[in-house]
Amino acid sequence: MKNKSVVVSGAGPVGLAAALALARQGIEVCVLEAEADIPHDLRAGTFHPPTVEMLSALGVGDALLAQGIPVRQWQIRDRKTGVVAEFDLGVLADLTPYPFRLHCEQHKLSELLREALNGMPNVRILFSHRCTDYVEDANGVTVQFENSNGAGEMRAGYIIGADGSRSVVRKTMGVEFEGFTWPERFLVFATSYDLREQGFTGNAYIADPDEWSAIFTQPHDGPPGIWRVAFPIPPEVEDSEVLTDDFVQAKIQGILSPEREYPILYRSVYRVHQRVAKNFRVGRALLAGDAAHINNPLGGMGLNSGIHDAVNLASKLGDVLLNDASTDVLDLYDRQRRLTNVEYVQAITIRNKRLLEERDPTVREQRLNELRAIAANPAEARAYLINSSMIASVRRADEIQ
Ligand SMILES: Cc1cc2nc3c(=O)[nH]c(=O)nc-3n(C[C@H](O)[C@H](O)[C@H](O)COP(=O)(O)OP(=O)(O)OC[C@H]3O[C@@H](n4cnc5c(N)ncnc54)[C@H](O)[C@@H]3O)c2cc1C
Repeated sequence: MKNKSVVVSGAGPVGLAAALALARQGIEVCVLEAEADIPHDLRAGTFHPPTVEMLSALGVGDALLAQGIPVRQWQIRDRKTGVVAEFDLGVLADLTPYPFRLHCEQHKLSELLREALNGMPNVRILFSHRCTDYVEDANGVTVQFENSNGAGEMRAGYIIGADGSRSVVRKTMGVEFEGFTWPERFLVFATSYDLREQGFTGNAYIADPDEWSAIFTQPHDGPPGIWRVAFPIPPEVEDSEVLTDDFVQAKIQGILSPEREYPILYRSVYRVHQRVAKNFRVGRALLAGDAAHINNPLGGMGLNSGIHDAVNLASKLGDVLLNDASTDVLDLYDRQRRLTNVEYVQAITIRNKRLLEERDPTVREQRLNELRAIAANPAEARAYLINSSMIASVRRADEIQ
């Protein structure tokens, strides 16, 4: 008999969104999560308009809106001269009910998704269950896992690998993770000092050949929220030095004022990659989110594109499992989501990083001037925002056949 259930490896935001999108169609879903609970480490925190639309369609949009900070204006700045360009997402109000970036920690979305899934009889979320392997046959997949009792296995029609950048599912599929790793790491820290006092919008990118940075508000424990700041760290500087108070203070004082100390709530260092899986589908296994693609955080596109994968995939898998659609639609998922990740997410995030870090003063001035001109021209600013808010990438995916 045809197995109509799906195993999702990974209870990150993408795995849980895929599970919810499948479960709402009545499909039986089992989510395997290696950790004992939803990880609360601080990672992505920006939701673009199409993502908020998709999450609203899944029934968790209002709750996310209630917890998040809507950010309509964002800036590109030069570290020495100040604001280069300011953009207002409000000009897209005719295209989306959510013409802003919604800032909210990703684990808060995961909790909302879990809450929605918990009430559904066709869903199981198994924590402390690490997916270790799967084997495919004509009728489905046998998924192997490990938990505190040892090894076990379960049957399903399909498996979704939403198990992050080191995805076991991707490795079992034998799919290459093509791309590269940036030589510098990123230092991310948060301060409760309100950068609005110095003219910053809720999201800002600061260009500088050595000390470029990215800044965005997060709700944290509620209003007024906190500010997260990211800086590049050269390969030769040790983490132990980067994480000291003196190092972090010097960074923030460099963009604000050396006259005072700023309260620092947390800090961490992480490595950044640009990689895309060569295939998002092999037979009955499909990849979504970081398992399928990773990128630098400049532009806030990684998690967003993962949610776009989850929604796109769940709809097609639903067609296959419930409406006997040809499995060719799963190859369409691969084409739509892989191509748009390469054409938009990878291209835009690499371009954003190169803009901020440009060393050649002539090229740098030319690029910043281009941005000044775009921001000053309403039609060009609108086109720029349609691209950077990911509306263009979702439209493009829909066009691919
Ligand atoms: C340190 C860090 C900072 C980041 N900061 C930003 C940022 O500032 N802005 C931004 O846009 N993006 C950022 N990102 C990227 C962003 O967090 C990801 O794009 C997002 O988490 C993708 O969600 P996901 O569900 O695909 O993967 P993940 O969130 O990685 O979730 C994968 C889940 O799978 C589980 N898992 C892994 N292996 C297995 C297994 N074998 N079996 C079962 N479960 C498994 C993991 O425990 C995890 O819960 C950051 C990433 C990292 C690592």
